[in-house]
Amino acid sequence: MKASAIIVAAGSGRRLGCDLPKAFVPLGGHPMLYYAIRAVAAVKDVTEAVITLPAEMLSEGRSVVRGTGVDIPVKLTPGGAERQDSVRIALELVSAESDVVVVHDAARPFASPRLFEESIRAAYLAGGAIAAIPVSDTLKQVDGNAIVATAPRIGLYCAQTPQAFRRELLMRAHRDASRDGIAATDDAELVERTGARVAIVDGSSLNFKITTRDDLALAQALIAAGLPT
Ligand code: C5P
Repeated sequence: MKASAIIVAAGSGRRLGCDLPKAFVPLGGHPMLYYAIRAVAAVKDVTEAVITLPAEMLSEGRSVVRGTGVDIPVKLTPGGAERQDSVRIALELVSAESDVVVVHDAARPFASPRLFEESIRAAYLAGGAIAAIPVSDTLKQVDGNAIVATAPRIGLYCAQTPQAFRRELLMRAHRDASRDGIAATDDAELVERTGARVAIVDGSSLNFKITTRDDLALAQALIAAGLPT
């Protein structure tokens, strides 16, 4: 079985308030993107990676790839306006020989190679599989600053990446979404619309997405404490 990895790293990271695009913000002595590249390249079934970047960061991206020392082929491309556009653009560059495509956010630097392996394997069997963790907080619906309802959290999960799918299925899901004018914040939603089954594999609370300055501070502290191991 062959898998291609798509790492989406074309976001601006405006909410982080840094001058650099988020994937290039330093974390433990490396740009954030470094960790996702190292993680996917450590997975036996992954034979190539396609990375989306802000158009003006392609040559910096090439040096990040060189700095990782990984030996799989890595293609770089400018991303699109939204995350979904970036994934669609990267899919065009994926090898037609790949059975499975695994999509990952560069903004999640602590996804382990094991998590990639499990999602790829489950997607090969089931069609699609994503990392997710059960919701642990109580969910409130709020209007202004007042609670209007409490939503039962039973059966609710937080979707993470990696998200892996059979290549043909993911391509069809993106084609259908473009045709129908559907915008989604993850790939699983597009695949769910096709009626295909998407399984869950156990994600991790350490696999959080770096969005705010607090997230970045937490990530710095985890790296100082020895993560990723
Ligand atoms: O903005 P957010 O952190 O939710 O984006 C999730 C991931 O998608 C990030 O790794 C970001 O770089 C990527 N992205 C992208 N192209 C966009 C927007 C986001 O590749 N147009």
